[in-house]
Amino acid sequence: MAPERRPLIAGNWKMYKTRPETAAFCAAFLPLVAGVEGRDVVLCPPAVCLETALAATRGAGVGVGAQTMHFAAEGAYTGEIAPRMLAELGVSHVILGHSERRQYFAENDADLARKVRAALDAGFTPILCCGETLEEREAGRTEAKVGGQLDADLAEVDPAELPAVTVAYEPIWAIGTGRTATPETAQETVAFIRRRLRERFGAAADRVRILYGGSVKAANIDALMVQPDIDGVLVGGASLEAQEFARIVRFVEPA
Ligand code: PEP
Repeated sequence: MAPERRPLIAGNWKMYKTRPETAAFCAAFLPLVAGVEGRDVVLCPPAVCLETALAATRGAGVGVGAQTMHFAAEGAYTGEIAPRMLAELGVSHVILGHSERRQYFAENDADLARKVRAALDAGFTPILCCGETLEEREAGRTEAKVGGQLDADLAEVDPAELPAVTVAYEPIWAIGTGRTATPETAQETVAFIRRRLRERFGAAADRVRILYGGSVKAANIDALMVQPDIDGVLVGGASLEAQEFARIVRFVEPA
């Protein structure tokens, strides 16, 4: 983690929690992280809970993000949500290209390039996810897979805009499996991501936040955050419980 990149801790609630559960989480969580400085915190609840989360976190210094969105301003896209609808709510971040969206909802790189563009145009911080499967890792194809995703998904981004993008490296084999990449393995791929971005975007790559995601919990957060290129984490399961997520947010700043 470099000083010019402020750490970001984001919770992806996936399809968990109703509106009352969202309000109850915020009531328990916010006092636990009150006064914590030097890091950004974002909750990404299900779409129907965004308004509840925004109301509950107002003035608390905690951002609220969506888990996905469409790229179009409006249109005949049943079930989808447009950037301007999220902007009107007051959302600050949007997760794009999560492996579950890619796997179960056929989200592809062409759509993601348009979504990243639309997110920047709407003033959101896109949290662009990338990562390899276990088979790809074992076949030595991690860099080819992740590099290819980044090239395609950032196709419509200019170097000047790059620092507004956050990248989340999430090895698919570590998501929801309890199997975390070791801090060194995570650092290795995150460093590769930064090199790849530097090749294409130049010095702007040094200002991009790159997160790690995959079975992050209170027990491993400190070891991850000491890694020089890891600027934060995207947390699934462990972000659902207030005490656990608060401990992650309160990771120990390396000396
Ligand atoms: C995620 O959903 O982005 C994630 C990393 O999940 P988990 O922390 O549960 O592995």
